Amino acid sequence: MNNVAGLFIYICHSAAMDNLFSNEPFAIACPKCKKEIIKPLNWFKKDIVSCPFCKGIVHTRKFRAKLEAAEKTSAQFRKKL
Ligand SMILES: [Zn+2]
Repeated sequence: MNNVAGLFIYICHSAAMDNLFSNEPFAIACPKCKKEIIKPLNWFKKDIVSCPFCKGIVHTRKFRAKLEAAEKTSAQFRKKL
């Protein structure tokens, strides 16, 4: 529990770090053309993005849990450095 609270505080207090780990590459499969879209985490911050391959609309909230997990993993990793 302490780790979670600590991580939360860590994320809230590290605006500069936010920029760093938001550049981590993240991949999702396009729901329409099934191609893998690989972009930095911050590219997925928008609710709706368009697929670079088929130009289809991708709702990122379907991937929100994964995105947040990736960010947390990244933050945790950097905290250990
Ligand atoms: Zn697509």
